[in-house]
Amino acid sequence: MGKPKNAMEIFALLDKSNCRLCGEKTCLAFAGAVYTGLKKISECPHLSPEQKALYENKVDPAVTTKSDEDQYVSELKRKLRGLDYEEVATRVAGEKQGDLLKVNVLGKPFAFDKDAQFRTDLHIISWLVVPALEYVCNSKGYVPAGDWISFREIPGGREKYGLFHIRGEAVLKSLADKYPDFFDDVIHMFDGESVEQQFESDISVVLHPLPLVPMMICYWKPEEGMASSLNIFYDATVHDNLGVESAFFLGTGIAQMLEKIARHHGF
Ligand code: SF4
Repeated sequence: MGKPKNAMEIFALLDKSNCRLCGEKTCLAFAGAVYTGLKKISECPHLSPEQKALYENKVDPAVTTKSDEDQYVSELKRKLRGLDYEEVATRVAGEKQGDLLKVNVLGKPFAFDKDAQFRTDLHIISWLVVPALEYVCNSKGYVPAGDWISFREIPGGREKYGLFHIRGEAVLKSLADKYPDFFDDVIHMFDGESVEQQFESDISVVLHPLPLVPMMICYWKPEEGMASSLNIFYDATVHDNLGVESAFFLGTGIAQMLEKIARHHGF
């Protein structure tokens, strides 16, 4: 892999635990610092040698003190401040309440105030801020039609699919293999639903990370001589309603969050 196109590519690799072992307050800040050459990717101790090798010595020296990540979020916030929240709410299946633009994220209420600041009663999940902003700013508001496609079928998804599989699908498969109530808990935690099995899978579960961006997880149990497998599907409208970068964050972010929860419970 060559030089990263932006800090988000680096952020996608990170643990997102905000553990601060790299000396930065958040993984987002670290990604920006790596992109601008202020930090080396090897300073995050949670990355494997293979992951470090992807970007080691492939970033330019710092030319700015403001990270690319910060700039990207600032641009999205500026754009959102200039939008009519009434129009946005209608377009993205959200709701305008007073000065607030409310949108359900993973089945939970999130809101942007009139200054495009993110508000939620939930424990802040920093990696969700970018996809949520991307969604309210840029979604075309197409209604999902139930035409499921794999991540690699999203325009731009093919080249990112290897990482998406490692950091998303493989993580979820490992949890589903070990943890008998995994799918029940996922449904309960994220207000998901079990649906009729798709693609001849044994279990199919649909989540709504964002109102017009459903995500389906299909799991095939192991059977004689065949290992289990798991794939994540998005509706074919995901390209217009969110885009491949944020779809990457949602799939891998959810997987890593579930892995942390499972670890916390001793699985
Ligand atoms: S980048 Fe790595 S070390 Fe830094 S906060 Fe994130 S997980 Fe921790």
